[in-house]
Amino acid sequence: MPLLVAVKPGAVAVSLGGDSVYAFDGEGRLLAVHTAGRTFQRALDGRVLEKLPSQTSLKGPWERRRRWLSETAAGGVLTAVYGEMRRHAADLEQALGRASPPPPAGWLEATLAWDGVRLAADGERFRSVYAPVGMLPPDQYRAVVLQAAFGCPWNRCTFCTLYRSQRFRVRTVEEFAEHIAGVRAFFGAALPSRRWLFLGEGDALSLPTARLVAFMQAAAGIFPVAPSGLGGRALQAWRAERDEGYVGFAGFLDAAAGARRPPREYADLRVLGLRRAHVGLETGHAPLYEALNKPGDVAAAITAVARLHAAGIGAGVIVLVGAGGRALAAAHVRDTLDTLEAMRLGPDDLVYLSRLRVMPDSPYDRWARAERAVALAPDELLAQDRLLAEALRRPGGPHVASYDIEEFFY
Ligand code: SF4
Repeated sequence: MPLLVAVKPGAVAVSLGGDSVYAFDGEGRLLAVHTAGRTFQRALDGRVLEKLPSQTSLKGPWERRRRWLSETAAGGVLTAVYGEMRRHAADLEQALGRASPPPPAGWLEATLAWDGVRLAADGERFRSVYAPVGMLPPDQYRAVVLQAAFGCPWNRCTFCTLYRSQRFRVRTVEEFAEHIAGVRAFFGAALPSRRWLFLGEGDALSLPTARLVAFMQAAAGIFPVAPSGLGGRALQAWRAERDEGYVGFAGFLDAAAGARRPPREYADLRVLGLRRAHVGLETGHAPLYEALNKPGDVAAAITAVARLHAAGIGAGVIVLVGAGGRALAAAHVRDTLDTLEAMRLGPDDLVYLSRLRVMPDSPYDRWARAERAVALAPDELLAQDRLLAEALRRPGGPHVASYDIEEFFY
C-alpha cells in the first residue's frame, strides 16, 4: 500500500513504501527523488543532479559533492520512477482519493502519462521559453523566473563569469508579454507551489524604472501579486485564500544603479509589488571592492539599501567569502561587518555568504597572482564564513545563510 506523504499547493510527494520518496510538481514532472541515502534533483531543462554525501570532515555547504548525470543515466532514473508509479497506479489512486487537500484535478493520470519521449520534449519546451537561467539567490530558487533581459549590463566584475559570453539585451515590453505567457503555460498546475516572481537576468532591477514598471505591470496582469501593504499573517491568509498568489517581485540590483534611483521611484516599485532586491556587495573593504571592479562603490551600496528600506523593500546582500585571499582577509571581514552594520539590516533582510570561486586566468585570478593574494584554504574559508555568520546572527537581525553558486540549478 503506498503511503501518500503530502499534497501541497502545486506539488505532490509520494512514498511507495521502503525508503524512497518522490516529489512531483502539479503537472506531474519529477522534481526530486530521495532513495537509499541518495538524492536526485531534476532541473526543468531535464538534466538530473545527484547529491552525494561529503567526504571531508568539513561541514560547510561547500563540501557537498554533486554531479550531473549523463543523459542515459538521467533517463534511467526517470524511467525507474515513472515505472514504479505506474506499477502502483491502483493503490496510488486510492491514496490520492483520501488526500486532504486533494491533488490538482487529473494529477495522477497526467503523471502516469509522462515517459522518456515526453520528458525530453518538455526539456526542449523549457529551452524554448527560457534562455539559460544564470543564477538566482537561494531564497529565489523556487521562484517563477521572468526574464526581462539577457546577460548583465555591467559584466565586468573580475570574479564573475556568469554572463561573459552573452551580449546584454533588454526585452521589449511586447517580447516580455509573450515570454511571460509562455512561462505561465509551461508551469501550468505547478504554479501554486511557487511564491515569488523573480525578474532576471543579471541586475534586471537596475533597468530604468519606467521599463521596470511596464514589465511588472504586464507580469502582475497574469500572475496575481499580493497588495503592497500585506505582511506576516495577513500575507499568508491572502495566499491561502486563492489557488495561486505571489508574495511579490525580487531581482538583482547593482549598487551604482541602486544609489542613483530616487526614493519616489522605489516607492512606486513597492506599490507594484517589489519586495526584495539582492545587492552584490561582495566586500565592504573599499580597495578590494574596487579591485573586484564592482559597479559603484561601498557607499553606493549602503545608499541603495537605505533607499530600499525607506520604501519598505527588503534587501538580500551577498558577501564573497574568501575575496582578497589571505592578505586582505582581516580587512575584508572587518570592513564588511562595518558596512553591513551601516546598512541597518533587519528581519526582512538576508545576508548570503557565497564562496569565491576563481576561474583560472580570469581577471580575478590575474589580479590575485599580481598582488600575491594567496587563496584561502578550505578550512580558512569555512572559518571566515563562520566568523561572518556568528557576527551577523543576532535577535532582530537579518537571516544569514551560506551558499555555493555550484548548488544552483533551475
Ligand atoms: S554585476 Fe553581477 S552579474 Fe554582472 S558581472 Fe558583476 S557579479 Fe556578474
